[in-house]
Amino acid sequence: MYNVAVIGAGVIGTAIARELSKFDLKIVILERDNDVSSGSTKANSAIIHAGYDAHFDTLKGKMNARGNYLMEDVCNELNVPFKRIGSLVIARSEKEFETVKELYENGLKLEIPGMEIISGEEAMKREPNLAEGVLGALYAPTAGIVEPWELAMAYAENAIDNGAELRLNFEVREIEKKEDCYSVRSEKDSVEAEYVINAAGLYADRIYNMVADSEFEIHPRRGQYYLLDKEAGGLINHVVFPCPNEMGKGTLVAPTIDGNILVGPDSEDLEREDKEAVNTTYDRLDRVKKLAGNISDKIPYKLNITTFAGLRAEPSTDDFIIEESKQAKGFVNAAGMKSPGLSSAPAIAEYVVGIVEKMSGGLQKNENFKPVRRKRIKFEELSDEEKNEMIKKDSRYGRIICRCEMITEGEIVDAIHRSAGGRTVNGIKRRCRPGAGRCQGGFCGPRVMEILARELNVPMEEVLMENKGSVILTGKTKVGG
Ligand SMILES: Cc1cc2nc3c(=O)[nH]c(=O)nc-3n(C[C@H](O)[C@H](O)[C@H](O)COP(=O)(O)OP(=O)(O)OC[C@H]3O[C@@H](n4cnc5c(N)ncnc54)[C@H](O)[C@@H]3O)c2cc1C
Repeated sequence: MYNVAVIGAGVIGTAIARELSKFDLKIVILERDNDVSSGSTKANSAIIHAGYDAHFDTLKGKMNARGNYLMEDVCNELNVPFKRIGSLVIARSEKEFETVKELYENGLKLEIPGMEIISGEEAMKREPNLAEGVLGALYAPTAGIVEPWELAMAYAENAIDNGAELRLNFEVREIEKKEDCYSVRSEKDSVEAEYVINAAGLYADRIYNMVADSEFEIHPRRGQYYLLDKEAGGLINHVVFPCPNEMGKGTLVAPTIDGNILVGPDSEDLEREDKEAVNTTYDRLDRVKKLAGNISDKIPYKLNITTFAGLRAEPSTDDFIIEESKQAKGFVNAAGMKSPGLSSAPAIAEYVVGIVEKMSGGLQKNENFKPVRRKRIKFEELSDEEKNEMIKKDSRYGRIICRCEMITEGEIVDAIHRSAGGRTVNGIKRRCRPGAGRCQGGFCGPRVMEILARELNVPMEEVLMENKGSVILTGKTKVGG
């Protein structure tokens, strides 16, 4: 029997599992998909918000402020790239300037460090490509950018290296409360655990309803994006937001950790059942262009390399839901994780461990806990001497597979064989970037498939693009007479 079963391997579930692995606990992460980071964690703005935005008296506000504070140490330990590039919220009217001042005051209550209200002129000096007419801005130096899926993968990897188990393709269908534990079942399998943590993202309401009467609902709120080529890289150097409104923080323009430019998201409420609607649409992408025009009128859309959409888990409570259920003892919800869920992940993990500690009457430290995750080698960033050394040790680092991003076979093989390693073409893309460049996998895709098939010892036809059913090859051509 496990002490804790965590349902969902997004950034919240994996952060919780890793934090729990600091203690002497038997932990299992149950994920319905074939990889970690398959839900909202896969498609978002990748911003570690400074924390002035959510009201100081909400869990969102408190978790964001603390999460931002913890993020740097977490990323250092897990060897996940994180850059504090700072953010600007720009005001284009007196009314918006009032909002900027309110955000500043709210930030002060949450002790967000280093915030400044700057003039429009100063904002233009710091970001010369802003569209004219900026009256003033809120500058927050602690805002940052990260690769969200790498953070979740790193959390999962480190949790596994510290004893946690990850069960992929385990879709929780039923949960039964027994005398001293919960029985958590998929179609074919089951596990028993003393405590259950519900970190199932968009599906957290359905999971909770397996053990209790409805207390909250989760609705999908879609956001669509453009991702511009690295050639557009110098356009903007901070995360630049418009003034927030009731639908969220607005359509932003920001650099990504790999040097691309991200433009989006919009905000579109969908029906409660539409929890898989991650398609993009022409009209909404057009809307993103219009909204982003309020930030900069120099965005070079001809350098767009892909568009994508993500679904926010919008809770009916309007705040994060992080508590032990009053209806089901030992069952903890970590639900309603819309933005700033990513930014808050380390703080949410800490908070949930506090709940588990209370429920269990005390936790013993895991004396063997290893905080550091092995660094991912980025071959292109090595010096010539280091490159030569790597190739001498392992000749696969001498074979370039992805020419856009200069990714070697050695990096791909490593991404497959790590704990919580990649099993699909897109899973490998998220881990080490073959296919993330200008050609979007047009050239390297088949070679990545060959490597996956060889390393996992499966036929090429079984290599998937992404989730279950995303078959790439259906059979051989020109066989037989
Ligand atoms: C458009 C958009 C922009 C955003 N921008 C930001 C941002 O810039 N900064 C920020 O801080 N936050 C941002 N967020 C919010 C952030 O992405 C989320 O808070 C975070 O990813 C939530 O992580 P999670 O683990 O709760 O959910 P998810 O990543 O969705 O993970 C939940 C997991 O549970 C699994 N699951 C579901 N049902 C079951 C089941 N029955 N059995 C087993 N597993 C199951 C899913 O497959 C999934 O992997 C944004 C979100 C969106 C959509």
